[in-house]
Amino acid sequence: MAPPIVLSIAGYDPSSGAGITADIKTIAAHGCYGLTCITALTVQSTLGVRRVVPVSGKIIASTLKELAGDCDIDAVKIGMLGSAEAARAVSAFLKVRRFKAVVLDPVLISSSGARLLTREGVQILKTKLLKLASVVTPNIDEAAALCGVPVHTLNDMRTAALRLHQFGVPNVVITGGHLNSPADFLSMDSGAQTKLFTGKKISTRSTHGTGCAFSTALACNLAQGQDLASAVKSAKEYVRAALKSAPKIGKGKGPVGTVFRST
Ligand code: PLP
Repeated sequence: MAPPIVLSIAGYDPSSGAGITADIKTIAAHGCYGLTCITALTVQSTLGVRRVVPVSGKIIASTLKELAGDCDIDAVKIGMLGSAEAARAVSAFLKVRRFKAVVLDPVLISSSGARLLTREGVQILKTKLLKLASVVTPNIDEAAALCGVPVHTLNDMRTAALRLHQFGVPNVVITGGHLNSPADFLSMDSGAQTKLFTGKKISTRSTHGTGCAFSTALACNLAQGQDLASAVKSAKEYVRAALKSAPKIGKGKGPVGTVFRST
């Protein structure tokens, strides 16, 4: 039987903690087949992001058209976009092709402080991309930046999720791994149903790529036919195991460990 196909549209991190090459590891670990479209190159290591080089919108558009014309894609994950041009090309693609599951991870700024989407790109993400996604997965900082409100508590998460629904996205998961008591908040069907996933804090410096691992695992679980709440629960368990199994790589903030079967 052919494996479910997951398309990752994301940036390239040469240290493979985040971005396309990390996503391919997560997709393989879930027994899915990964297609990729690179939106931007970065120069980075575990010590931080030094440079972002956007890929042209034309290349992105033709890559996506080529892949979608050839393969039946079960789920799409969108990560770092880099530029407004990339955000526009991805929006145009999603407007024409409709997919069962589109997971949008709104990557804005790296933990080392580098901007991974231009201000103009953020506007395109808010006004054009959010309404084309089936689920968006901001962390608390990204939710705060997109909604313009501070997000520190469960109540703040609830408010931010409602604001994100107003941009047209039906399902929102705000990941709160950085909170003192870690908790992920899922708001489904434009806020009609909500669910809180609590967990224990894992003490590790190897957290680079946590957001990519979560959103890609979620896309894989949806591609395999899980309903949204169980797909979120499994993706959370995958990230927990990835944090616990992180290899010691590099001198800085190392990658999460994504190379294992989650099931
Ligand atoms: N580089 C790429 C290509 C990414 O996709 C991301 C996050 O999604 C990052 C860097 C930043 O990762 P972190 O915030 O873990 O440093």
